Amino acid sequence: MIRTTILASAALAFTLGCGIAQVPEKNERQPGQERIDGYTNTPKQPPPDDKWHIHDPGRSQPPVVEPKYDGDPVPAPAGAKVLFDGKSLDGWSNKGWLLEGGAMVAKKGKQLSVEKFGDGHYHVEWLVPAGLKGYGQKQGNSGVFLMNRYELQVLNCWGNRTYPDGMAGAVYGQTPPLANACRKPGEWQAYDIHFKAPVFEDGKLVSPAYVTVYLNNVLVQDNTEVRGSTSWRRLPKYTPHAGVDSIQLQDHGSPVRFRNIWVAPLTKKLGR
Ligand code: MG
Repeated sequence: MIRTTILASAALAFTLGCGIAQVPEKNERQPGQERIDGYTNTPKQPPPDDKWHIHDPGRSQPPVVEPKYDGDPVPAPAGAKVLFDGKSLDGWSNKGWLLEGGAMVAKKGKQLSVEKFGDGHYHVEWLVPAGLKGYGQKQGNSGVFLMNRYELQVLNCWGNRTYPDGMAGAVYGQTPPLANACRKPGEWQAYDIHFKAPVFEDGKLVSPAYVTVYLNNVLVQDNTEVRGSTSWRRLPKYTPHAGVDSIQLQDHGSPVRFRNIWVAPLTKKLGR
């Protein structure tokens, strides 16, 4: 019995020593996370959300729902442009990111697609490694910036709470996801982002951008108006720009992985 216990302890120590992370059983706040990170000394959100500050930890947490994605790569539909097939970083600006096991791993500096896009259906698969230290925004922060400006947040939100406008599925700093559909860290997750680019005429905004987003095949943004370029702790605003621009994958100091990135023509009707 004692020998069994010693062997079991040794096996556990070996497992932990190998860096095989412990993954929580349920998607709820884990022991040790005593508070939700965020800010209350920031400007208020615009109406009708003006009882909340930007990055407000007190804003209602979206309901946790079952993801509907099994983690397999989703084939690009006919007419789509494949931007990353796991084999090379051709077509991407930052060759300093690691190419490993059919994925690219965030390293120093942002990653920009060489080809530029505007309206479209963007598909991006991402994975936050299990066992990262810290909570809230430190749990695998990255992001998909449409037109190099408008961020859909990438973050582990399984067993990890943060301010709702900074969750996976959020238009960062603006609109929380309708639901928390995150899979566990260490598992692949899928973004399907239907994006209608903003329109500028004579240096003025005539139509904002809109997004409808599915995270793991769950609707998390429904024809959401994007209120401007992504900002931290500030109200967003628009600055006129060209009709197409790069996709940016964010480097926020976490070894987040990406694979199977493609862009298809926008087929959803978005806007008001
Ligand atoms: Mg981010």
